[in-house]
Amino acid sequence: MKAAVFRGVRQPLTIEDVQLSAPGPHEIVVRTAAAGVCHSDVHFYEGLYPTPTPVVLGHESAGIVEEVGSEVRYVKPGDHVITCLSVFCGHCDYCTTGRPHLCDREGTRREADEASRLSQNGEVVHQFADLSSYAEQLLVHEHAVVKVREDMPLDRAALIGCGVTTGVGAVMNTAKVPPGSTVVW
Ligand SMILES: [Zn+2]
Ligand SMILES: [Zn+2]
Repeated sequence: MKAAVFRGVRQPLTIEDVQLSAPGPHEIVVRTAAAGVCHSDVHFYEGLYPTPTPVVLGHESAGIVEEVGSEVRYVKPGDHVITCLSVFCGHCDYCTTGRPHLCDREGTRREADEASRLSQNGEVVHQFADLSSYAEQLLVHEHAVVKVREDMPLDRAALIGCGVTTGVGAVMNTAKVPPGSTVVW
C-alpha cells in the first residue's frame, strides 16, 4: 500500500510503498477514507516533538473495516469507523473504573519480538500514535476505533478523532458544561 512517510525534520513526506503485517487476533485492517492534518502532526514535522523515523504520521481519520483478527467481535468488514488516539486494553483498573484514557495500553501494541505493524522491505516503519493514518490502510488494535453511522460523511467523521474530541473535552471536562446546555461564548 502507499503511505506518506516522514523521514526527518522538515523533510517533505514522500509517498512510498509500505507493507502491513497480517492482523493479529485483536487487530483490524481499515481502508482509509479521510485523514485530517492535525497541528500535532505539524509539530512532529517541525521537530518540536521527537519521534523515531521513518514513521507514518496521521491520527485523525475515518475509514471502512476491511479485515479483522480471529478474536475481534466489536467490528466486522464493512463497518465505518473513526480512529481513536487513546487505544485502551479494556480490562485494567483504569479501564474498568471508567478512566480508559489512563490505561497503560498493555497488550494493545506489538511486542519487541513480534513483527512491526508497518515495514518496508523488511525494515521497521514506525507507527504514529498507534494509528498512522497518512496511508491507504491502517493496521490497528480493535480498541483504537469507534464505529460511526454509515450515513455520516467520512471526511467529516474523521475530524472527531482528535479535533472535535479536544474541543468537546475542554467544554465538558474543564468548563464542566453539561450536555444539552445552552451557552454563549
Ligand atoms: Zn491531533
Ligand atoms: Zn486498560
